[in-house]
Amino acid sequence: MTEYDFLIIGGGIAGTSVAKELAEQHKVLLLERESQPGYHTTGRSAAIYLETYGSKQIRALTKASGAFFRASLDGESPLISDRGAMFVADEQSVEKLQAHYQEVKRLTENVQWLDHDELAERYPFLAEHWIAGVYEPDAMDIDVHGFHQQCISRLKRNGGELKTSASVSKIEFVQGKWQVYCGETCYRASHIINAAGAWADEIARLAGLAPLGLSPLKRSAVLIETQGSCLEGPYIGDIAESFYFKPDAGLLMVSPCDESPEPPCDTSPDVLEVAIAIDRFEKATELPVTRLQSKWAGQRTFSTDRNPVIGFDPRATNFFWLAGQGGYGIQTAPAIATLSRALLCQENVPESLSQLGVSSEALSPQRFLA
Ligand SMILES: Cc1cc2nc3c(=O)[nH]c(=O)nc-3n(C[C@H](O)[C@H](O)[C@H](O)COP(=O)(O)OP(=O)(O)OC[C@H]3O[C@@H](n4cnc5c(N)ncnc54)[C@H](O)[C@@H]3O)c2cc1C
Repeated sequence: MTEYDFLIIGGGIAGTSVAKELAEQHKVLLLERESQPGYHTTGRSAAIYLETYGSKQIRALTKASGAFFRASLDGESPLISDRGAMFVADEQSVEKLQAHYQEVKRLTENVQWLDHDELAERYPFLAEHWIAGVYEPDAMDIDVHGFHQQCISRLKRNGGELKTSASVSKIEFVQGKWQVYCGETCYRASHIINAAGAWADEIARLAGLAPLGLSPLKRSAVLIETQGSCLEGPYIGDIAESFYFKPDAGLLMVSPCDESPEPPCDTSPDVLEVAIAIDRFEKATELPVTRLQSKWAGQRTFSTDRNPVIGFDPRATNFFWLAGQGGYGIQTAPAIATLSRALLCQENVPESLSQLGVSSEALSPQRFLA
C-alpha cells in the first residue's frame, strides 16, 4: 500500500490550495467524492474579493491573500479583475452604513461616501429610497475556476495525486498512521487534512471525534436578464444584507442573502427563495427582470464564531481541520493555504500573515474544546 505524508479530504478550493503547497516537498493524496472537484460550494460562489468583508481574522486572511492574487496580474492568466463594490442604505439602515464607512476608512483611504443625489446620478437604475452609498473601488472579481484549476495542475506537476469519485466512508488510526477507506480501497497516511466543506463535522465523526458544531447555511442565487448600465457596473448590495447583485457576462447574478441551516447536501434553491431574489431586485431598482436564466444555491459553512477552523485537533494525532470558511473561502484561500502548510510542517505562523493580524489561536479548533 502506498503511504502518504498528507491525505486531504475534499477537492474544493480549501483542499486543492493546501494540496498544491504541500506537494512541493511531500507525498500528497487528495480525495474528492464527486467526479468533478469544485462541484459543491467552490463552484457556486459570487467570486468577490473584498478586504473589508467579515471578521477581523477574515479581513487579515483576505488582505494577506491579496499579494497572491495581484501577482497573477503579471502573468498570462490573471486571477482577478476590477469590479468595485457599492453598499447602499435606506432611512432605516443609514446608521449602519455610516458605521461601516467609518470602519472602512480606518482600513483604506480608497472609499467614497455618496449622498442621495450622487447615488442617483451615478446609478440612475437604483430605486429612490436608497439615501446614501459607500463605494469601495478596490473590490475585485476572482476567476474562481482559473484559480482552482491552477491549484490542481500545480498539485499534479509537483507529483501530488488527485483521486475523484473517491468518497471517504471509514477512517481508522492504526499503528500510528491514518487508514482512510473509499469503499474497499484503503489509503495510509501520517496526516489527515479535513477540507470537506459542509461535511467537515461528518469526517470528524468518521475519525471518532465529536463534531465542532459547524453549520452549513444555504445561500441562493439567480442569474437574470435585465437592461441598463447595472450590467457593467460594480457589485451592489444593501448594508442590511437583504440582497446583492453583480454583473456576470451580460447577465446579472442576484442573491437574496439567505442563510438557511440545513444538513450537508447537494443543495438547490426553492421556489420561494428564487421569488424573493427577484422581488428584492425589482424593489431595489427601477429595472424589470425580463428572464430567469438559471438558479443555484451553495452551502456556506460557519463555525459558531464565524471564523474558520484551522489547525490540529488536540484530541487526535495529526488530524488537521481546514473548514468553516463561510462566505469567504475563495478570497482567503491563498493565505489559509500558506498558514496551513506552515502549521502542518510544525513551523510558526509566517510573518507575512502574523504582521497583518492572522492568529493561529483565534483559528484553532482548540477554541471549541474548552
Ligand atoms: C452563493 C455563494 C456566494 C459566495 N460568494 C463568495 C465570494 O464572493 N467570495 C468568497 O471568498 N467566498 C464566497 N463564497 C464562499 C466560498 O464559496 C466557500 O467558502 C468555499 O468555496 C469553501 O470551499 P471548501 O473547499 O471549503 O468547500 P467545498 O467547495 O464544498 O469543497 C468540499 C469538498 O469536500 C468533498 N467531500 C465532502 N465529503 C467527502 C468525503 N466523505 N469524501 C471525499 N470528499 C468529500 C465535497 O464533495 C466537496 O467537493 C460563496 C458561497 C456561496 C454559496
